[in-house]
Amino acid sequence: MTTETFDIAVIGAGMAGASLAAELAPYARVLVIEAEDAPGYHTTGRSAAFWEETYGGPGVVPLTMASGGYLREHGFLSPRGALSIATAEDRHKLEAYAESFGAMGIHIEWQSRAAMDARVPGLRPEWAFATWEPDCSDIDVAGLHQHYLAIGRRAGTVLRVRARVSAVEREAAGWRVVWGEGQGAGAARAAIVVNAAGAWADEVATLAGAAPVGILPLRRTIVQLRTDPEALADMPLTLGINGDFYFKPQAGRLWLSPHDEIPDVPCDAAPEELDVAVAIDRFEHVLDWRIAALERRWAGLRSFAPDRLPVYGFDPVREGFFWFAGQGGFGIQTAPAAARLAAQILLGHPDDAMTAGIDRARYAPSRFAMAA
Ligand SMILES: Cc1cc2nc3c(=O)[nH]c(=O)nc-3n(C[C@H](O)[C@H](O)[C@H](O)COP(=O)(O)OP(=O)(O)OC[C@H]3O[C@@H](n4cnc5c(N)ncnc54)[C@H](O)[C@@H]3O)c2cc1C
Repeated sequence: MTTETFDIAVIGAGMAGASLAAELAPYARVLVIEAEDAPGYHTTGRSAAFWEETYGGPGVVPLTMASGGYLREHGFLSPRGALSIATAEDRHKLEAYAESFGAMGIHIEWQSRAAMDARVPGLRPEWAFATWEPDCSDIDVAGLHQHYLAIGRRAGTVLRVRARVSAVEREAAGWRVVWGEGQGAGAARAAIVVNAAGAWADEVATLAGAAPVGILPLRRTIVQLRTDPEALADMPLTLGINGDFYFKPQAGRLWLSPHDEIPDVPCDAAPEELDVAVAIDRFEHVLDWRIAALERRWAGLRSFAPDRLPVYGFDPVREGFFWFAGQGGFGIQTAPAAARLAAQILLGHPDDAMTAGIDRARYAPSRFAMAA
């Protein structure tokens, strides 16, 4: 088995690994190592594909907002709009939502019931209150992922697929990373190892002798419905203010999620019947539409650190081990700014126009060591 030498070895080729590799590629010789046959098989390939500025909460807003310009400039966003809805009982939650995120510079307007009906016909009468976020957009996830992989490829980044990393060993001058079995086995040396392993981030940290930060994979389900009436192409992303459902149109169909967060283990996640049933039940309490067919269902793992903020930076103890994990439910919409920021931290570069408003310390892995 030959051992090639790189500056940086990135473990995982989902959106996290692909985007960071692209940002690093102009400055370093980069290897990206992916366990599956194709990059994007896990969480990245299973998202609901929206860019919604409030999503993930106030600590994620700076990353989402900083990413908007890049996504728009490169043609990865298309207008969708978001309607957050509430019953009279939860009106105060909607007010607090509009006030707190409005104060962060997010464009949020109140909607009349007539405007709600025009956007989402068939809303049941008890959903009397709504806010409207015109800037919410759909993201071309596959396009963005391929864009980053292509930037890396053009700059000489090497991508190894079907290469599950099984050892990350510290050597005098860096790391030796080992993957695969039999004919597919391989190894590389690198000064820095990046942990972009999504749901497997704590497992990869353990392989490298770093302390896990407590990344928890939470399963999220989506179903694709054929409905009567048919979902209108210009319907918004519609979210319940209690965070218990969202839906959006997709090519004449409806994508619906019960907004589930079921603790899981790192795996090839699959939807459970119960979560599908919950999704449909919640939907039927919101719209008076008939469900003509349940066409598809899938699930993916959204991986969170204990404080639900992402983890970007060098491990405080294990030298040369860099975390790029905990992207939760916002790893696509934050990808441009997150990858730029992480590359700046890793390379010791200063902020630029995209990252100037972002507090690096907020996402540092050392926050967990300090808390311990
Ligand atoms: C249902 C659902 C809806 C979502 N909707 C949105 C949305 O609308 N907008 C948004 O911004 N985000 C959304 N997300 C979240 C987003 O998809 C994730 O934050 C993002 O995809 C995480 O990317 P990642 O690269 O960290 O993880 P992944 O895509 O899972 O990539 C990690 C990779 O690491 C590889 N790996 C792991 N261990 C090893 C190893 N030992 N050796 C080699 N490779 C390894 C895995 O094979 C995997 O390919 C959603 C997620 C789900 C599940």
